[in-house]
Amino acid sequence: MAASGNLFILSAPSGAGKSSLISALLKQDSPRPMQVSVSHTTRDPRPGENNGEHYHFVSVEEFKKQIEEKAFYEYAEVFGNYYGTSEAAIDAQLARGIDVFLDIDWQGAQQVRMKKPEVTTIFISPPSKQELENRLRSRGQDSDEVIRDRMAQAQAECSHYQEFDYIIVNDDFDQALADLTTIVNNQRLKRSQQVEKHQDLFNDLLAND
Ligand code: GDP
Ligand code: ADP
Ligand code: 5GP
Repeated sequence: MAASGNLFILSAPSGAGKSSLISALLKQDSPRPMQVSVSHTTRDPRPGENNGEHYHFVSVEEFKKQIEEKAFYEYAEVFGNYYGTSEAAIDAQLARGIDVFLDIDWQGAQQVRMKKPEVTTIFISPPSKQELENRLRSRGQDSDEVIRDRMAQAQAECSHYQEFDYIIVNDDFDQALADLTTIVNNQRLKRSQQVEKHQDLFNDLLAND
């Protein structure tokens, strides 16, 4: 049976670069399969976002039904919309040995940490407030009102930075991607995982010839 996959959380104020970093990471060669978790949300799709690829876009009624059915690993209300991670989907990916990345807010990170203390959590910080606002604007996906709202929420998201295992300041994108890759590799090189992966090697090294 394949060793179980690692679970990673990336949190950051909107516009700090989580989605871009995860997407670039998944395009790199990797000795282990990696996937991003596709959340459910009640917000409207942005131009270019596809149902089932970026999010599962559902109605508030459908979301509440799934809350009652305990379908979510975690869920939270962010910017007036519901966002949640499907428990069945994550468990199936991890059981298949896939490293799974959750792009979720600090409230979701707290819930997952309680359920799975071994999760690796990463906070992505923008290099400055001004640059965060520039990125939200240059992304060109949100209205002025939405951007104002997200900038107002950025401080609340950032106030939780001390709860994370790692912090990446996303100033130079390539450096931030290298930092993220290092964190992922670090997790994979932990003794417990290496022993599981190289069981035959250690049996052989310790055998009396
Ligand atoms: P982004 O900030 O530009 O990536 O905007 P999104 O609309 O994709 O995400 C909005 C907020 O919801 C962010 O703070 C995400 O971290 C959070 N979020 C997204 N998916 C989930 C999820 O499955 N669970 C939780 N708890 N939060 C999520
Ligand atoms: P998030 O998922 O955290 O909301 P995105 O990945 O959508 O953020 O990034 C927000 C915008 O900033 C995008 O237009 C992206 O191309 C840009 N961006 C991300 N990282 C950097 C960086 N290091 N330097 C300049 N622009 C960046
Ligand atoms: P956006 O609307 O820009 O796609 O996402 C806004 C915020 O919601 C982001 O900070 C993102 O990380 C968070 N988010 C997205 N999906 C989930 C989720 O399933 N759970 C939680 N808790 N937050 C989420």
